[in-house]
Amino acid sequence: MASEFELIRRFFDRPVQGGARTLLGVGDDAALLRVDPGMALVVSTDMLLVDRHFSRDAPPRALGHKALAVNLSDLAAMGATPRWATLSIALPAADEAWLTEFAEGLFALARRFEVDLVGGDTTRGPLAISVTVLGEVPEAYALLRGGARPGDDIWVSGMVGAAGAALAASQNRARLEPQTASIARGRLEMPEPRVALGERLRGLASAAIDVSDGFAADLGHVLERSEVGAVVHYESLPRLRTGDAELDARCALAGGDDYELVFTAGQEARGALEALACELALPLTRIGAIQARPVRLVLLDAGGLEMAAPAGYDHFADAS
Ligand code: ADP
Ligand code: MG
Repeated sequence: MASEFELIRRFFDRPVQGGARTLLGVGDDAALLRVDPGMALVVSTDMLLVDRHFSRDAPPRALGHKALAVNLSDLAAMGATPRWATLSIALPAADEAWLTEFAEGLFALARRFEVDLVGGDTTRGPLAISVTVLGEVPEAYALLRGGARPGDDIWVSGMVGAAGAALAASQNRARLEPQTASIARGRLEMPEPRVALGERLRGLASAAIDVSDGFAADLGHVLERSEVGAVVHYESLPRLRTGDAELDARCALAGGDDYELVFTAGQEARGALEALACELALPLTRIGAIQARPVRLVLLDAGGLEMAAPAGYDHFADAS
């Protein structure tokens, strides 16, 4: 079997793209990075565990993509430009075919966003993947969860619910038409982090979060941090349509793993956001408004009646 150093060299040591920014990448005791003056360093970490976040037979290329994508999504939700990543990985064995595909998935996405993999750790153990991403944002323009104000509009990018529907289908909790199933599976396995949107929301959005635990739960985090309430019109929420309205609502409101951005912005930003949607070829939909306290999400159906909001995913909510 290849040694740890051989694995790192073959699969994870690639030439840097960041030129003057990445002074030193993989191979020394630590990486050496240069942050532009006036920029804050933005850091985020996510961990993916086999049998909890993905199945043992998950396609490795998609896993490499997703491990980086979920972290880039967190930076997007801060309005940050991603620059660097580190990868800590525990592997049960040095499966070279698996590692080749995994690295291809990860580096394909890293190249698109000019992110350098600058370090990490490689050990033997039950399959676990932890990526840390580092990025930059002008200090005064970071998008926080706490900035929403009464009267602000609530917006969402793309659509929600597809990843949740794919997960339900894979666990035989839902049946999807082949075409819908393939769209949904693509969204679950290869989520697209909304990096360009996040960068362009600097100075436009008052608060932002990415949808990882479910729309209602994640918007709830914004409400808590901002100490405000919200009214959302469910009919205007862009969502996957499967033909089963109840499934659609559950997936759209509580499905999670969509990695779209939910953000708030003053009403004066409407024109700029509509233009931005055209420019990025990414739908941005206005779905409701921020209200004064209490901290509460009111969901209204097409008839203006209040709907119950299902809970989002919480790793500690069950006994396991
Ligand atoms: P140390 O013993 O000093 O922690 P390691 O042997 O763990 O060093 O790592 C050697 C070099 O390889 C370091 O630069 C480290 O950041 C990098 N590295 C280790 N694993 C990975 C990985 N999975 N992806 C990218 N770089 C890695
Ligand atoms: Mg080490």
